[in-house]
Parts: sequence; structure tokens; C-alpha cells
Amino acid sequence: MPFGAHMSIAGGLHNAFARGQQSGCDTIQVFTRNASQWAAKPLLDTDVSAFCTAMGGCSIKPVLAHDSYLINMGTPADELWAKSRNAFKDELERTDALGIPYLVTHAGAHMGAGVDAGIRRIAQAVNEIQRERPASLADGSPATMILFETTAGQGSGLCYRFDEMARLFELLDEPQRVGICFDTCHVFAAGYDLRTPETYDATMTEFDRLIGLDKLRAFHMNDSLKDVGCRIDRHAHIGQGYLGLSFFHLLVNDPRFVDRPMILETNKGEEMVEDKENLAVLRALLGRKADDLAEVQALADQTGVALAAEQAENKAKKKAKSTKAMANESVEEQQVT
Ligand SMILES: [Zn+2]
Ligand SMILES: [Zn+2]
Repeated sequence: MPFGAHMSIAGGLHNAFARGQQSGCDTIQVFTRNASQWAAKPLLDTDVSAFCTAMGGCSIKPVLAHDSYLINMGTPADELWAKSRNAFKDELERTDALGIPYLVTHAGAHMGAGVDAGIRRIAQAVNEIQRERPASLADGSPATMILFETTAGQGSGLCYRFDEMARLFELLDEPQRVGICFDTCHVFAAGYDLRTPETYDATMTEFDRLIGLDKLRAFHMNDSLKDVGCRIDRHAHIGQGYLGLSFFHLLVNDPRFVDRPMILETNKGEEMVEDKENLAVLRALLGRKADDLAEVQALADQTGVALAAEQAENKAKKKAKSTKAMANESVEEQQVT
């Protein structure tokens, strides 16, 4: 099982690899640009070569990219749709240049125009982009595959239900160039239970029936702070949320997913201690018996304890000085949804 986490690209894209190694990742996810701004600095040849050198010089594989949160290809507003389409194409050009095999994207939101209209808009954008974009790169390797992420169904967010995702795939001209990233927190929040062998099987069978498990190329590994069906996207440390270790035990020991990258998007501090802790929990579940999880639960209960103490200390310091202390900016900067 390649386990990993979303890594900051502060100081340069290539730095994500050193961070990934430092926190014990087999695989990583990155933004290739600032994810909360429309404007992106163009990718320079030096950025690409530094990234490829770092990638070639370590065992981290594969690298996933996640697109900007501003992109909404499901919108009925023409201007935002065109802007989103162009930005998404730019994201794909960047990942193609960097040799990144997967680009994860939240499909979009219909903003009141209705599910079917929203899904059609997304398909139209993707079909146009794929027509303009070769399926393979100059060296013959495949171009970046788009991975639509299962969402929590917040607001008018699309593709939180598997049948909506299936409908989107029906409308794609080249569905073979597109896959799915299964976010565990989102699927659960969207209303699919996964906590027992029976509900886990039922959900995976439903996914297979409507979309196909062959489409499932990656996982986002997040526990959920909210209960099943809440349609709210709040990530928890592994084993500290409503999903719990019973689910993660089933998933990491499922032989169907043995080669799929499994990426954490959980809260962490600058030292990435929490990534190490969550990764240790996931690895401790491998090959273990289902009735022997108490030891791992004790481990999971410790995740984030140091960070919480640090945050409490910072808060106290801030209060004491009553100045604009550093708060937890570094922590917030790295949060991924
Ligand atoms: Zn995610
Ligand atoms: Zn999320």
C-alpha cells in the first residue's frame, strides 16, 4: 500500500519530496500553484527540472496534484465557467510538464441551476479540454489523468452521489482518460456507510455497479468529524472520527486496492508530526485481525496531541501578550479539503 500525505510546496515545488521523505511518505499530493488564487506564476524550466530531479532521486511514487479550489466547471455563469475551464486546462498543462500522472479535482457545484445542468457543464469543459490536449506526451508516456474526487455534497456540490458521478462519465467523450479519487470522509459524509464489513461491501459494490472499481485510482484518507450523511466536509485524524479504525482496517487490507495511492489530508503542524502519526496508524492496521485493534486505537488516540498542546500554548501566549501572535498560520496554510 503506498501511503502518503498532501505536502506543502513552500520554497519551491521540488521541496515537497524532501518533506514527503521526512514524514515517511511512500506517495504524496501537491498543489502545483497557489490553490486559493486565480493568478498562477508560470512554471519555469528550472522549476520543472528541479521537480523532475527530486522525483527521480527518491522512491516517492506516484505524485498526485490537486487543483485550485476556485475552479468550478459546473457553474451556470458563463464568465466563471470560461475562467474555470482555462484554469483547469492550465493545471493539466502544468502536471503534464511535471510528469505528474494524476490531477485530482472537485467536480464543481451547480449553483442553483440543477444537477443535470451542472454535470453537463463539467462534461462540456472536460471534453473541450481533452480535444485540445494530446493523450500522450512527447516521450510516449500517458498525459495526466483527471481524477474526479467524490465530494461531501456541501451546498450545490456535484458528484457526491455515485449515480451523479456515473452520469458525468456517460457524458465524457474520452472516459478512459478520467478516473476517480475516493475521499473516505466525503463518501461517508455524502451518506454511504462504510464502518462494518456489510456496509463497506455494500458501498463498494454500489460504486462498482454504477462507476466501476477499475476507475478508482486513488484514495484520500480522512476520518470524519461529522456523522454519516451530514454532507459536511470536516476531516479528522485516522481513528478519531465517526469512521473509526474499523473502516480503515477494512480498506487498507482490501486486496483490490493494494497498489492505490492513499493520501492523508488531515490537520498538521509545520513539523508534520501528525502525518507521521497517522501513517503509523494506517501501517499498524495492515495484516492485523479485526478483533485486535485496541493497541492501534491507543496509538490513534495520541495523534495530534502534541499539536493541540502547541496550539493551546500559542493561544495562551497570544492572550498573555495580547499582541498579534503567530497564531497557527502555518497550520492553516496546509489544510486541504
Ligand atoms: Zn480530499
Ligand atoms: Zn474534504
